[in-house]
Amino acid sequence: MRPIQMVDTKTQYLKIKEQIDTGIHRVLDSAAYINGEPVQAFAKNLSSYLNVKHTITCGNGTDALQIAMMALGLQPGDEVITPSFTYVATTEVVALLRLKPVFVEVDRETFNIDPKAVEAAITLKTKAIVPVHLYGQAANMEEIMAIANRHNLFVVEDNAQAIGSNYTFADGTVKKTGTIGTVGTTSFYPSKNLGAYGDGGAIFTNDDVLAKKLQMIANHGQEVRYYHEMVGCNSRLDSIQAAVLDVKLKYLDEYIAARQKAASFYDKAFESVDNITVPKTAHFTNHVYHQYTILVEGINRDELSKYLSSVQIPSMIYYPVPAHRQKMFAAFGGADYKLPVTDWLTERVISLPIHTELDEEQLQYIVDHVLRFINK
Ligand SMILES: *Cc1c(COP(=O)(O)O)cnc(C)c1O
Repeated sequence: MRPIQMVDTKTQYLKIKEQIDTGIHRVLDSAAYINGEPVQAFAKNLSSYLNVKHTITCGNGTDALQIAMMALGLQPGDEVITPSFTYVATTEVVALLRLKPVFVEVDRETFNIDPKAVEAAITLKTKAIVPVHLYGQAANMEEIMAIANRHNLFVVEDNAQAIGSNYTFADGTVKKTGTIGTVGTTSFYPSKNLGAYGDGGAIFTNDDVLAKKLQMIANHGQEVRYYHEMVGCNSRLDSIQAAVLDVKLKYLDEYIAARQKAASFYDKAFESVDNITVPKTAHFTNHVYHQYTILVEGINRDELSKYLSSVQIPSMIYYPVPAHRQKMFAAFGGADYKLPVTDWLTERVISLPIHTELDEEQLQYIVDHVLRFINK
């Protein structure tokens, strides 16, 4: 059996090595390392895959969130509603821009931001909502967009974990996550579902005016070189990463299907196990399983993780500390928040290996050891 990893980018690379190497060598030969043809080509191809008007590439997923929030013209002190149960980047950029993060509860079954909690957190200072499509399935965008429209708020979708996922509205319309809100963002960090071989990120919008502003902010606030109209930053996807991503984009649907297949293997094995709750998918979304995260009860999660590691099975806790309990947010009254569902989940989640290269032998080995630990 091949060694089990949380992600296996090497095996994935070897299957498409020729195309990737050709793409990279083309960039080396062109010497256009920054803003070369592959960057435009990839942005265009990603726009058509997602069926969105504009894709603005940038340096990473955190920058993408920052640039998105800068382009919305938010002012210091404006409130931005985010889940507490998320990766730090989502909430950190809010504080970095001197906006006020307002942490809300997530749904116990889907781990995603709870629209009722969002509505309850709205004040006169609220300007934006940042739903995170956590672990690879969409938050309840239909309700979130309705709330945003009622209160005239921006919606920034953090789509770093769910690129390629579909959202189905009540009227049957299907859209890709990241293209539903005012603006969407993603990350091409190597372990993400569409991963580069270095850093990368992108921002999506259907709004022409906003797209122009996003593009300018990512490039020192300039449209014409050396004429800077607004304060921006420097955030670029380099040509080599774009060449890699353009090849991998062709396989994204295949990669998603491989992740779903592994997830359904786990689902079948764990469905009837009392101590395990398998991930639930809401009716309006499909799940692209950036993570396969189970809830364990009546067993010691940390002992399970230790046991798995002793038999060469990696596992991770995403995330061990929710945002409202991070020292980083002490100044925002993090400790005063009462988010019992978030705390409850934090103590019970554990993510098992999931990626495009897991075979049945590996999956069976993981399942057998999880069950062995539970039944011992
Ligand atoms: C990975 C991730 C980010 C940040 O992406 P980077 O490319 O690492 O900056 C933001 N939000 C979520 C939910 C993520 O998973």
